[in-house]
Amino acid sequence: MARYTGPVCRLCRRERMKLFLKGERCFKEKCAIERRGYPPGQHGQRRGRRSMNYGPQLREKQKVKRIYGVLEQQFRKYFRQAERHKGITGENLLILLERRLDNVVYSLGFASSRSQARQLVRHGHVQVEGRKVTVPSFQVRDGQVIGIREASRKNDFIRTAIESARGRGIPEWLVLDDENYSGKVQSLPSREDIKLPIQEQLIVELYSR
Ligand code: SF4
Repeated sequence: MARYTGPVCRLCRRERMKLFLKGERCFKEKCAIERRGYPPGQHGQRRGRRSMNYGPQLREKQKVKRIYGVLEQQFRKYFRQAERHKGITGENLLILLERRLDNVVYSLGFASSRSQARQLVRHGHVQVEGRKVTVPSFQVRDGQVIGIREASRKNDFIRTAIESARGRGIPEWLVLDDENYSGKVQSLPSREDIKLPIQEQLIVELYSR
């Protein structure tokens, strides 16, 4: 699966908010949003034209894609899946994204960013119910246990990531078992569990044009 490989701080600056894409640095003064909180590029500091509908809808969609590290095609797939599910499409969409294995690994604090979590999954360091899973988009289910493989627990990279993620807080739908490098899906997430500042209705409106 292709993915964005350019400078990630530009993405935050484009959205004019912290998307927490760079791990520990995001919490320090070095964060680009702290220093230059305007969009990148030659015209970044100009006041752009304001479109009443399309502009905010597009920005909201881009923001969510960037937070979860999902590209357009896959994002559209999630949207279509969300439409097929019962309930509110926008909420379904966020819940599907939240249930991605890479997001769960990040949320449990085993990685300092979602992209690092994706790498851990891809490199075979993560298990679901005791079995290695190397697909970052894997959808976790209620009651499943997600953990770091025993052989990987001594890996300095992983230990540093866990240290730096400490104190970040764990979402209520997950339970962390610190000692065993694992966590359990206590219940599937609901919209209230997703604390990110997202107006998902704008994304639904965009795709319903
Ligand atoms: Fe975004 Fe983190 Fe870069 Fe700050 S340091 S701009 S939050 S990716």
